[in-house]
Amino acid sequence: MATSEARYRLPRNVTPTAYRLTFEPDLDAARFDGSEEVDVTVHEPVTEIVLNANELTVHGGSLVAGDRTIEVEKVVPDAEAERVTLSLGETADPGAWTLRLTFAGELNDKLVGFYRSVYPDADGAERVIATTHFEATDARRAFPCWDEPDLKASFGITLVVREGLTALANGPEVEREALGDGRVRVRFADSMVMSTYLVCMVVGPLTVTEAVDARGVPVRVACVPGKEHLAGFALDTAVYSLNWFGDYYAIPYPDAKLDQVAIPDFAQGAMENLGLVTYRETLLLADPDKSTPAELLDVAETVAHELAHMWFGDLVTMRWWNGIWLNEAFATFMSYRCVDEMRPDWRVWDSFARNKANAFEVDALESTRTIEYPVHSPDDASGMFDTLTYTKGGAVLRMLEQWLGPDRFRDGIRRYLRTHAHANTETHDLWDAIEAETGEPVRRVMDAWIFQAGYPAITVAREGDELVFGQHRFLPSAPEDPTTWPVPLIVRQIHAGGEHVDRVLVEAEGLRLPIAADDAVVVGNAGGASFVRVFYDDELRERLVARAGELLTPIERQGLVDDAWGAAVAGRASAAAFIDLVRGFTDEDDPGVWKAIIGGLGWCDRFLSGAPRDGFRDAVRDLVRPALDRLGWDPRPEDSDLDHELRGDLILALGVLGDDPETQAQAREAEALGRNGGDVAPAVAAAAVEVVAATGGEAEYDTFWASYTSARTPQEEDRYLYALGRFGDPALMARTLEASMTDAIRPQNAPFLMLRATTNRDLGPQVWTFIADHWDAIRDRIAESNVIALAAGLRFITDPDAVASAQAFFEDHDIPQNRLMLRQFLERQRVMAAFRARAEDELAARFGG
Ligand SMILES: [Zn+2]
Repeated sequence: MATSEARYRLPRNVTPTAYRLTFEPDLDAARFDGSEEVDVTVHEPVTEIVLNANELTVHGGSLVAGDRTIEVEKVVPDAEAERVTLSLGETADPGAWTLRLTFAGELNDKLVGFYRSVYPDADGAERVIATTHFEATDARRAFPCWDEPDLKASFGITLVVREGLTALANGPEVEREALGDGRVRVRFADSMVMSTYLVCMVVGPLTVTEAVDARGVPVRVACVPGKEHLAGFALDTAVYSLNWFGDYYAIPYPDAKLDQVAIPDFAQGAMENLGLVTYRETLLLADPDKSTPAELLDVAETVAHELAHMWFGDLVTMRWWNGIWLNEAFATFMSYRCVDEMRPDWRVWDSFARNKANAFEVDALESTRTIEYPVHSPDDASGMFDTLTYTKGGAVLRMLEQWLGPDRFRDGIRRYLRTHAHANTETHDLWDAIEAETGEPVRRVMDAWIFQAGYPAITVAREGDELVFGQHRFLPSAPEDPTTWPVPLIVRQIHAGGEHVDRVLVEAEGLRLPIAADDAVVVGNAGGASFVRVFYDDELRERLVARAGELLTPIERQGLVDDAWGAAVAGRASAAAFIDLVRGFTDEDDPGVWKAIIGGLGWCDRFLSGAPRDGFRDAVRDLVRPALDRLGWDPRPEDSDLDHELRGDLILALGVLGDDPETQAQAREAEALGRNGGDVAPAVAAAAVEVVAATGGEAEYDTFWASYTSARTPQEEDRYLYALGRFGDPALMARTLEASMTDAIRPQNAPFLMLRATTNRDLGPQVWTFIADHWDAIRDRIAESNVIALAAGLRFITDPDAVASAQAFFEDHDIPQNRLMLRQFLERQRVMAAFRARAEDELAARFGG
């Protein structure tokens, strides 16, 4: 424990073993009364007890053992430290005691702690749900507690609620008693011992679906009435995931039931409360026939992620918040692993590679951080929920799994969970378990990846009969960084005689491998398994590019495109070289590869105007149209989900980047048809919404507002909502921004609407000016954890004046809960502005004629 951390850690002279909690929430008055009995162990004689409480009124209580009672004489709150000190009337001796306290608090509107979520019912009347979100340190807003992850205890919850309301908690309901005053007392089974941040309760006018069975575990979905028909996909995914994880971990699901609740107001994506997982509606409720494959993947991946946590996180938990990365990285890795088994046709690791591309850009910054990072304060803990934790963390676990082999890796995970069930761990406990199972130097390899910032560029060159592998840290600015890694790498050589695969560790001094054949095509990062970029010498690269379509897997082609893009952004290659590479992909038919191509082209489009932009649009049409012609607009019986997705991607690229009038006209038809319930493939409908917005005017805008407010599914609602930031008319953008400050747009969505609006090619600076002008008002309206989203789009604003103004703004505006992410967003804006300064002329010269 670091000294600065001690300020945020409770004394350990009294520790809890079991909480019995009773809450009486008054939904109309937006407040609650609570009482608790906590079985504690007193480890040394004490005259006071210190525990966490935040914005709670603690009335008082007593400490009881057998027939001995010690009154709490004084309750001293410390708002800044989020603690209360209970002064005892006399000294409590070591041993087992029960602490009894009564307290009260507000049902707040901050989307943390015990909070209110509201929705209009079928008659338009406002209905209130009381729900909780505690991670990382907000259980203390609902009840006085030892709010640190290693102070595990069991939790028995009782809710006193108005008759007719649904009441849910972590455990199954075991007792229900009418109180005769219109209320019922509902008692839930005790949980296993777990951390405070996993406690959850939900009370409100909700519908609960019939239970489906997962090997004896009843699985249900709860949501606002009228949406229960959208629960089937999440239920199926949950049952599949629970069964699959039970097999993978070789440990049964650690609770007696699973409820998943869609909450209308929810700051995060979802939360892995044991047995009572909470979600944004759009990540739980979906109609498979009306959702795009990407939207369904979001639901499936989120459900699997949360359920992976039931074991990894809930059963075995990090000791302190510096270990949160492993919790999240592992759940991310496992969710893709599970969904890949459930839907192999989705090739979800290819989708994960798109997230990896974003992590690569962040991790190439000077302001990047190590994956495992010191965490002292609650603000530090909040800052850990970022792309480096989820995506880079997940990617290095995937790298380890692929390098060791999936079965050996899984055996290590099983050993880890067996050894530490119901307890807390440090990161190295995982490496040690896998090392013990495999005999490989797992701890040495992984320590380098989690305690060093950045990642390597691997160079591959041919020298005679050998391939020579080297490494250096990939950085845009300071190429002389001495950091090296033990790099687990899978190298594939394809030649006339077949294929040769090596699993190697590239150390600091590099590595030499025999070339398998004179004509071998060398893939330096086979399967995209490692968290590296690869750069080849001219001979190897030409050979690879020439036969990429034929010999490389889609994820390997995606890597080729993305590495070229990364090199251009970093100033190691020209933007024109990227254009030259992707122009060779006319036969491409994979959506992941196309997303990498279109992503780069979208940036180039931002840097061009006048005649060069016209030339660029011609080039985009030449590249994209043949691929769309091969697929056609109308779904074919043989189409896979990836074909559907690709069709949508290509329509969007041709309609917006290619500015193709014919595509735009067709998109208008498809959007109108889809809006009126006609038969349009969801991916086409979704793409059409964006094309129409990008090219539409006031009439379309008004229609989109109406479609947003009357959407039939959460996915449709999101499509129309976020499209409101895509229109090109400044007056319409002003309307969107004004609306995002009103009840017309939920606080959970407003920051993300603003983020997407910031990416608007022509109106980004207008959006940024609005955000800066309304900074305090926006902050007051949205969840603290979402404030950082307001800065996340800055990199898309690259004209020098706007860059200067945004950078200056943050010299006196702080986001303490995400300070490091803010620095990264600001640096990323400077990197992209510098890229623009180089690329503008190159691209203008390339497309000027
Ligand atoms: Zn998670």
